[in-house]
Amino acid sequence: MLQGAEAYFEQAVSTLHLGDDMRALLLHPWRELTVAVPVRMDNGTFRVFTGYRVQHNAARGPYKGGVRYHPNADLDHTRALAMLMTWKGGLADIPFGGAKGGVVVNPGELSQSELNRLTRRYTNQIGHIIGVNRDIPAPDLGTNAQTMAWMMDAYGAVNGYTPGIVTGKPVELGGSLGREAAPGRGAALIGALAARDKGIDVTRASVAVQGFGQVGSWAARCIAEDGARVVALSDVHGGVHNSRGIDVPGAVEYYRANGRLTGLPNTEPISNDDLLAIECDILIPAAIEDVIHSGNADRIRARIVVEAANAPATLEGGRILEDRGIAVLPDILANAGGVIVSYFEWAQNIQEFRWDEQRVNQELRGFMNRAYGAVVEAMKRHSASHRTAAYSIAVARVERATRLRGFLGS
Ligand code: GLU
Repeated sequence: MLQGAEAYFEQAVSTLHLGDDMRALLLHPWRELTVAVPVRMDNGTFRVFTGYRVQHNAARGPYKGGVRYHPNADLDHTRALAMLMTWKGGLADIPFGGAKGGVVVNPGELSQSELNRLTRRYTNQIGHIIGVNRDIPAPDLGTNAQTMAWMMDAYGAVNGYTPGIVTGKPVELGGSLGREAAPGRGAALIGALAARDKGIDVTRASVAVQGFGQVGSWAARCIAEDGARVVALSDVHGGVHNSRGIDVPGAVEYYRANGRLTGLPNTEPISNDDLLAIECDILIPAAIEDVIHSGNADRIRARIVVEAANAPATLEGGRILEDRGIAVLPDILANAGGVIVSYFEWAQNIQEFRWDEQRVNQELRGFMNRAYGAVVEAMKRHSASHRTAAYSIAVARVERATRLRGFLGS
């Protein structure tokens, strides 16, 4: 994944003709922290987990990015995701740099009280490098609004009431209305815009969504609300298919009650692999990274791929799709809705003011439209793919801020 992130960056470096000094400055994370996270388990045993916080670049504002609880979290992985956040914030034109955190843990194996203790200890361990104007964590894979509530509480115990220290909090604690839906809502918006530009009316589009967590379920809901026909959905256990269209609100209810999609009435089962190969207008991979790779990219029959997950395509997989003429809307654009509404949440917290949901969604639409418009314009200017165009805009903005701050010493 780090290899992919660096390759996309290098492509932007050459598109923008950046010099070696700037290249080195933008490539290397500015700070990396590895911490021990000791936890007394419910059964009395003692475990020491490993945690990370990588702060990639803060030229445009405080570091910003999620915290992931996952058994595969490691330093390279966290570095890649931190770098993606720098470009995501740059492309969205919000005043943040990029960071990412992770703890090597399978959260499904821990009780709520173990997770609470782990989160507090992790927060204490990184407490000296985060802050409302330094670095603002948020949820990612394996973490959620509850995790953010614990982080806010642990940070506040030392520093005083500080809701703006994390975003993606519960609304009752200062979270923003519309934040939970935002990454999915933004991905649906990008899917509709890309469809329009391919001459497909979204109300006639067929859509397949892989992943039914917060991102995938909201992407499916929002694009169905726009009138698209959602023909396939999946979660970790497998998928469901109906070429005439799935009732998405019904699927949300079913998933809530059963913890899985399989068995959803009026659908046939389909594997996660086969879901990717379904013939449809828009494919939305919204689960995890690397699901589209050199081994299956040839099988994909969608006209548009909207990367709602971070890095769902490997470097090679993404290139095969582009070579086949499939429009790949890159993660730094497609899932930017999350960090955009995180920005609104942070701004509301700082101002001690609250926006209604309509305002959040309207502002989100404005930011996503502008980012998409800039990408399309840069595609024409550089005769480039969506991804290369997106990276060149983002890297140019971060480069400009870095230069203005005087990092190069001149
Ligand atoms: N984890 C999300 C992402 O990858 C959100 C980050 C944030 O809101 O800071 O974009």
